[in-house]
Amino acid sequence: MSTLKLGLKLGCIADDFTGATDLANNLVRSGMRVVQTIGVPTAPLAADVHAVVVALKSRTIPAAEAIAQSLDALKWLQAQGAQQIYFKYCSTFDSTPEGNIGPVTEALMDALGCDFTIATPAFPDNGRTVFKGYLFAGNVLLNESGMQNHPLTPMTDANLVRVMQAQTKRKVGLIDYKTVAQGEAAIHERISALRAEGVGVAVVDATSNEDLLRLGPALKGMPLLTAGSGVAIGLPANFGLKPSLQASQLPAASGLQAVVSGSCSVATNAQVAHFKTTGRPAMAINPAALMNGQSDAVVQQVLAWAAPLLKDGPVLVYSTAEPEAVKQVQAQLGVAEAGALVEHALAAVARGLVGLGVRQLVVAGGETSGACVQALDIAQLQIGPQIDPGVPWCHAPGKNGGVHITLKSGNFGTEDFFTKAFAALP
Ligand code: ADP
Repeated sequence: MSTLKLGLKLGCIADDFTGATDLANNLVRSGMRVVQTIGVPTAPLAADVHAVVVALKSRTIPAAEAIAQSLDALKWLQAQGAQQIYFKYCSTFDSTPEGNIGPVTEALMDALGCDFTIATPAFPDNGRTVFKGYLFAGNVLLNESGMQNHPLTPMTDANLVRVMQAQTKRKVGLIDYKTVAQGEAAIHERISALRAEGVGVAVVDATSNEDLLRLGPALKGMPLLTAGSGVAIGLPANFGLKPSLQASQLPAASGLQAVVSGSCSVATNAQVAHFKTTGRPAMAINPAALMNGQSDAVVQQVLAWAAPLLKDGPVLVYSTAEPEAVKQVQAQLGVAEAGALVEHALAAVARGLVGLGVRQLVVAGGETSGACVQALDIAQLQIGPQIDPGVPWCHAPGKNGGVHITLKSGNFGTEDFFTKAFAALP
């Protein structure tokens, strides 16, 4: 790779962990070298990259805390020389009337002294489209997609202008599909008109990647962008960058291979079932067995089982279960307690596996990923090649060449993800 200094262009703040990876992946695919940091770093940026994504866990915490963390991230990114700031949230606009998308957007605008920004969760590659300000998830409106029943951020209105207006004091407007279809000049004209009307935040329609690529040039120089991960595909070109293999280059992979799965989503259940059909070794962790201080003993048993098998190829350790079984465990232990017990055990398994020489690790589940990355003391990830939409291989520098790791959010990935992931690693 060239030794020329790349120079930081884009500073990103993501409100959750796998969402940060999703954004980083889209930037890499469009030509940027990217690192993701776990929380706001305490030291200056050591890597030479075009973009940094600071991964926070601020989606559902109190708004005041989300603002404080986001402003900390902003300060750090500015100190590293970021030229444009990107606030990334979920492509289903996960939020409540209290926030946190509106309040964080407002606080970032105030801190940056900017009077206008956009807001669009559109991510056509994953079926999230915005039309006349209404957000669709697949073929249905957001509020008919299941998101209306989300335990923490129920989305009962698909009209993003209304949803955003309920969360912010700034006036919210719309740049609709007709304007977007006409491209950069028309979008600029619409932005000027909205500004003249006193609009501070504009929801933007986008139903295809072509829309996002038309939007990109119109965002050049805008100090703050707020969006899902989709808008990212149109940004690297503003900095003269084109898709390239170099953007996703990682150090060569070596060492043993393993999968740790704590996601109970439909897709992950299918992936676990598929892995078992390949005849590779798989060990289930039963949450009930972790009770009464038995967690450490179970982890030791799992590691003793895995140790002699690893030399022959990947092993799978999973707590993944069907909804009925999960409900039963939750009724017995409580939802939060069950989650924490399992996350803690799987994180200890991940640490133990790395101790046994695993250097290529697949982790399934958003919360599970957070727990594993923490247990592995990972502070920074270089983003590599995509395995499936939203899921890239990453490399965490460290002892013995560091670890290659991929963090798969619950419903992402094809059925054979747990085997094909290793084949996708150079
Ligand atoms: P996803 O990305 O699919 O939402 P997460 O890892 O974010 O996956 O969330 C899954 C949650 O379910 C975690 O808190 C995990 O510890 C918990 N969990 C995993 N397996 C079980 C199980 N068998 N019973 C109950 N809870 C479980």
